[in-house]
Amino acid sequence: MAIRNILKKGDDLLLKKSREVDRFDARLAMLLDDMADTMRAENGAGLAAVQVGVLKRAFVAETENGVIDMVNPLLIYREGVQEEGEGCLSVPGEYGITSRPAVVKVKAQDRKGKWHIYKAEGLRARCFCHEIDHLDGILFTERIIRRIPEEE
Ligand code: ZN
Repeated sequence: MAIRNILKKGDDLLLKKSREVDRFDARLAMLLDDMADTMRAENGAGLAAVQVGVLKRAFVAETENGVIDMVNPLLIYREGVQEEGEGCLSVPGEYGITSRPAVVKVKAQDRKGKWHIYKAEGLRARCFCHEIDHLDGILFTERIIRRIPEEE
C-alpha cells in the first residue's frame, strides 16, 4: 500500500482514453489499494487509475460501506438531471457547477473480475459519471456550466 502521485491538469495522459482491464491479478489489486490510499490521503470522493498515471479502465469511490473498486465500468442507465458543484484532485483550485444525470446505474467488475450493478443518485451519481469521464480522457472542467470562485 502506498500513496501515489496525482497527475494534474496540463498532463497529456489525463486526456487519453484508458484501456480495458483484462488481467485480474495481484498487480491490479495493488493498484486499486494504492488508489484507495491516495484518494483517502487527499480527501477525495473518487479517483481514476489515469490520475495516478495508469491508463486502465478502473476507479475507486468512497461509499457509506467503504471504498469500492470499479473495473471496466459501464454506464447502463441514466435518469433526470442534477446541477451541483464539482471539483477534481487533478484540477486543484477549480470548481464549478456541472450538469449530470440525477440517477445512474453502473455495471462494473470487482478486483476478481466479478460483475456487479450499482445504482447511485446525488453525489455518488456525480462521482461515478466524473470518474467514467476520466477513463475517456474527459475532465470535469469540460462539463462546467457555471464556475464557482474558490473563496465561496
Ligand atoms: Zn477527477
